[in-house]
Amino acid sequence: MNCPVCEKSLIVVERNKIELDWCPTCRGFWFDADEWRLLGVKDEKYNPFAYEAVRIKGEKGRKCPICGKVMEKIKVGDTILDRCPSLHGVWFDKGELGSFVNFSNSKETSTKTVKFLGEVFNIKKA
Ligand SMILES: [Zn+2]
Ligand SMILES: [Zn+2]
Repeated sequence: MNCPVCEKSLIVVERNKIELDWCPTCRGFWFDADEWRLLGVKDEKYNPFAYEAVRIKGEKGRKCPICGKVMEKIKVGDTILDRCPSLHGVWFDKGELGSFVNFSNSKETSTKTVKFLGEVFNIKKA
């Protein structure tokens, strides 16, 4: 699987049986829909797969690393993410993960996600 931004090969990062595909070049990462489900986040507010797509001017469309379709944009808190229109997964740019973690940080329901992402990517809570 290749990075939708720089097209280099993604590396699989595994933690607690959940796998993420990480780009060592641009440090973005890909979250499969199935892997997201394994995190067990119940609150739809923190589920990027439950969001409606938005139109963002001037943002170049990136392609889903699984099916090659141009991804749509979703807005989660202040963060704009790329999501496959067939819901294969969501792409987080390097800085976007930190924003997402900060956003989801406020609720107990997301603690598992935040903890997981924090452990994998060594993200500090705000
Ligand atoms: Zn990359
Ligand atoms: Zn796809």
